[in-house]
Amino acid sequence: MTHWLSVAVPTPAHSGLGEPLTYRADAPLPAGSIVRVPLGAREVLGVVWGEAPAPSAELAPQVRAIAGGFDGLPPLTDDWRALIGFTARYYQRALGEVALAALPPQLRTLTGVQLARRLKRLAGAAPPEDAPADDCRTLTGEQAAALARVDEGGGPFLLFGATGSGKTEVYLRAAARALAQHASAQVLVLVPEINLTPQLLARFAERFGTGAVVAMHSGLTPAQRLAAWLSAHLGQARIVLGTRVAVLASLPGLRLIVVDEEHDPSYKQQEGARYSARDLAVYRGKLTGATVVLGSATPSLESWHASTPAPDGPGRYVRLAMPRRVGLGPDDDPALGLPRVRRVDMGRQPRDALIAPPLMAAIAERAARGEQSLLLLNRRGWAPVLHCADCGWHSECPHCSAFRVFHKIDRTLRCHHCGLTERVPRACPACGNLDIGTRGRGTEQLEERLVEWLADATRPDGERVRVARVDADSTRGAGQLEASLARVHAGEVDVLVGTQMIAKGHDFRRVTLVAAVNPDAALFSSDFRAPERLFALLMQAAGRAGRDTRTGQAEMWVQTHHPQHPLFGSLKAHDYPGFAARELAERAQAGLPPHAHLALLRAEARTQDAAQAFLTAVAEAARDATRADPAAAHVHWYPAVPLAVQRVAGIERAQMLLESSSRAALQRVLAACQPCLHALRAQPAHRGVVRWAVDVDPLAV
Ligand code: ADP
Ligand code: ZN
Ligand code: ZN
Repeated sequence: MTHWLSVAVPTPAHSGLGEPLTYRADAPLPAGSIVRVPLGAREVLGVVWGEAPAPSAELAPQVRAIAGGFDGLPPLTDDWRALIGFTARYYQRALGEVALAALPPQLRTLTGVQLARRLKRLAGAAPPEDAPADDCRTLTGEQAAALARVDEGGGPFLLFGATGSGKTEVYLRAAARALAQHASAQVLVLVPEINLTPQLLARFAERFGTGAVVAMHSGLTPAQRLAAWLSAHLGQARIVLGTRVAVLASLPGLRLIVVDEEHDPSYKQQEGARYSARDLAVYRGKLTGATVVLGSATPSLESWHASTPAPDGPGRYVRLAMPRRVGLGPDDDPALGLPRVRRVDMGRQPRDALIAPPLMAAIAERAARGEQSLLLLNRRGWAPVLHCADCGWHSECPHCSAFRVFHKIDRTLRCHHCGLTERVPRACPACGNLDIGTRGRGTEQLEERLVEWLADATRPDGERVRVARVDADSTRGAGQLEASLARVHAGEVDVLVGTQMIAKGHDFRRVTLVAAVNPDAALFSSDFRAPERLFALLMQAAGRAGRDTRTGQAEMWVQTHHPQHPLFGSLKAHDYPGFAARELAERAQAGLPPHAHLALLRAEARTQDAAQAFLTAVAEAARDATRADPAAAHVHWYPAVPLAVQRVAGIERAQMLLESSSRAALQRVLAACQPCLHALRAQPAHRGVVRWAVDVDPLAV
């Protein structure tokens, strides 16, 4: 007998075929079964979404048969399919694309025999049932209170814990309790970046045994990815620790989801289905009844707002505060042990000083005592621009609306947007002037200057002070980042220069001075989240300093032309709530998230006109289509505009902002946009459009 199945398959993103396709099968297959199916000339993986209505007698012969299944592999759960369905709908992508992106591609190539062998190996490798090595250290009062509240149930919880307050210990205990509740219980722990997984992985493995914990991130080989996925899907992995992709993993026993550093922008996927793993974690928790714990010392304003009690009742999230570092007593000032923040008014320093003389002296002094300093500068390369004072030429990228950055190390001009790299010209390409100069400073220059300035400074052992740099350029090779960090930990480096990469999560015991070299740009950025990101980065960086409180007073220096800026005032007071309250008030006034919901339609085309014309046509068509829908009146459309970096690799980019106080209204209008985007793109008038995308809850607008 023939069975008709509705199967989610990876249809090309812009084909307009968002829905599952119908296939025939000789035997019934439960929803959630993973199958191999023909699609065009290829054979792809698919997920059975349910039974399909029988096609008409006319169409039936054209319906293709599934190519095979995977015996022994349990079907994906209804909850998993519901999560995928929600993700696809909410972020406006095809169901099959989202479903298949969450499966290990290597599964497709496995024969039945190979799969059986792997399943057997996994079953054999079952972790010995050793009870987790119970940690004997006593919890701090704040940790105990937070855990007790989590135990009461409910949530989602926002664990608002200062750096060093022991959030990880709370995650570990919460995980232990969740696992103890049921033999098949599973825990998902999300971290923002791959390079933060090893540290946390080690702590979880130490507590729960190596066999019980698997890592899941984009750095795995296809074989590792398959193994990790299988072990999570089969329940062998009790704890899955991963980056944002892991939020869509199959975890049939999921009881607890932890999102560490929940404010981190890396949780937002920036291509394909542009989902927020943090938001999906909250959704998934609600869907499956799993407890959700979001943790941060500087929560996203969204989560902070959600956990703020409203006048008419509690917040949607439950806020758990751990303001004090481990080691402080309940009556101690939470600021004890946190670095002293010093603002350096750059207007009073020698003109064009890269490092103010008093800061320079402080760095040398710390080095002489055997202490380390961390200098943050969010611009890599030597100088952001090369220019000619005679004719006004700048090192623009010919393909992008951006300057190419001067990298002195290999004497190149590099475009950080399209990658174009050329040798630095000997003379001005426009007028032949031999005397071309640089403007602005990057990490390379800072490193070079520090070496010069510290030429006479010495370490306690009498040797010269050592300077190192960590940024995307210095860590390109495999293992380079780990090697650099190891040198810092070993005390071989006295002064570390780097981009924000070095501020995140690394526990540098001997760092007693942190400096933000030039943070001002973020104060006046057109990106409305720039101040929030800067504040989080600086608080985070301050948390790096003086973790080992036996050394003297740690300091955080901020070089700024705006020492009176309230952001720095809040930083000095280590006052996140004060910062958040001010920022939220500004967002409310400007109609920005979390007080409003945003979505972007983006288009890329050969010309800016073509990109904008496409978006304008889509807006008109979508407005027409939703005229009868009263919800549509609550959505505000902005005109199409060029992106901040308007041209990349010769392609013009434009976007259109949609804003609404109602998430549901915005969703309905976006759903109406989909068919318009597909239909208009197919018209000859819009042939110049290279691609388009929808970004729901975008990070930047
Ligand atoms: P956070 O993640 O909040 O920045 P961590 O979890 O890294 O903080 O904890 C900071 C330090 O305190 C770590 O070295 C950790 O081992 C230690 N620690 C955490 N909880 C306790 C405790 N209850 N007693 C003693 N040390 C603790
Ligand atoms: Zn010139
Ligand atoms: Zn370029």
